[in-house]
Amino acid sequence: AVDGGDRIMSALKRVFKFEKFRTDLQESACRTVFEGRSDVFVCMPTGAGKSLLYQLPATLLPGVTLVISPLLALIQDQVTQLKDKGIKALALNSKTKKSERISIMADLNLVSPTIKLLYVTPELLATDSFRSLMGDVRKRGKLSLLVVDEAHCVSQWGHDFRPDFLKIKDFRILNQCPCIALTATANKSVQKDVVKQLQMEDVKTFTASVFRENLYYVVKMKDLLPSPFEDLMKFLKNRRDQTGIIYCHQRIDCVSLAKDLSGMGFSAAAYHAGLTSNIRDKVQSKWMSGEMKIITATVSFGMGVDKKDVRFVVHWSMPGSLESYYQESGRAGRDGKRSECVLYYSREDSNLKSFLLKQSWNNYSDEKKMATMKSLEAMTKFCEQPDNCRHVLIGNYFQDKVEKCGEMCDYCVDPGSTANKASQAKSQASG
Ligand code: ADP
Ligand code: MG
Ligand code: ZN
Repeated sequence: AVDGGDRIMSALKRVFKFEKFRTDLQESACRTVFEGRSDVFVCMPTGAGKSLLYQLPATLLPGVTLVISPLLALIQDQVTQLKDKGIKALALNSKTKKSERISIMADLNLVSPTIKLLYVTPELLATDSFRSLMGDVRKRGKLSLLVVDEAHCVSQWGHDFRPDFLKIKDFRILNQCPCIALTATANKSVQKDVVKQLQMEDVKTFTASVFRENLYYVVKMKDLLPSPFEDLMKFLKNRRDQTGIIYCHQRIDCVSLAKDLSGMGFSAAAYHAGLTSNIRDKVQSKWMSGEMKIITATVSFGMGVDKKDVRFVVHWSMPGSLESYYQESGRAGRDGKRSECVLYYSREDSNLKSFLLKQSWNNYSDEKKMATMKSLEAMTKFCEQPDNCRHVLIGNYFQDKVEKCGEMCDYCVDPGSTANKASQAKSQASG
């Protein structure tokens, strides 16, 4: 055979049309999943190529790979991409047409189902009918893998906990098969919790460094700037032909910022959950195609969005946790080219976040309250008390050893002035 009988390499090239694995880590994780001898936990940054780790083995394994993913939009994207590659992938959820539902059931009832990847939401996994259907598939030895994408949603200590994800555990107990958990952001305690919640055993862990060497991090003190908006203008004027995201806290800010930018001749549009899905889709696809350059968005934008040439991610106000900040800013520079991550900070924003958090946490456990406060405090400290390289600060938070970047953050470029400005803004806010 062309690749020395290496089925993995030949599927990589023929089915997925990739020249090679992106990293050694991607390759070894993929091979481990294919071997199927242990559960696998993967923590790699967004854009690292986690989907391939289970999609490729799924095409080679004899049975069905069941994928649990939190968002219908994410599922739809993945299924479409897989179908384009000629892989039999389907989604089963509340939006599935009845005729399709029936044909999926029929296929799963075959001695050898032909479906390779079946994407479901965690709610469906908890229903009796689906459980018994999959139970039969497993008894026939045709359940290859159980994949949990965005696995941090399983953990209460994660930044995006979804109670439905806890139901995966019961399914696991009933249907033993190798379990693959994937996430982009999980510190050590979240990792441990995910492994526990999913009842993973003899788990092999693959974690990439959180360090993103092509991202330039800078935090600007709104209260020290004569006009933060002018400052943003100056930044954008040098980047007229570049693609970027500006995250705003509130919908109204997205809309007014998009309007102001358009007025200044920029190609910009707002994106938030209050818009119709029709408008959101239009905005997103114009931005994806490059026809429109700047998207001003709330956090509802971005999960699963895969655009390589995002040159900047601006935070017009501070996110509620360092996890969120890492994930949102990390949408820049997926092509490996230098990209800017600019955060406009003010104590007022931080106080507002804390206020809103406390308003919404009535049903949180004490531990969960502590964890959310800790993430918010870490975010605030990152802005107000920079005492090291930004990349090191992020690394420390995720308990990952990162070296000083040297020239890819405001602190490394000018430690004195960066620390000074932060403390000046801090004392101004407290005074
Ligand atoms: P993640 O889930 O880790 O955020 P994805 O699985 O969505 O990342 O992959 C991000 C992008 O990288 C996709 O466009 C995918 O096609 C691409 N990709 C994955 N593996 C490779 C590879 N070995 N070579 C080139 N591109 C790759
Ligand atoms: Mg992914
Ligand atoms: Zn640095």
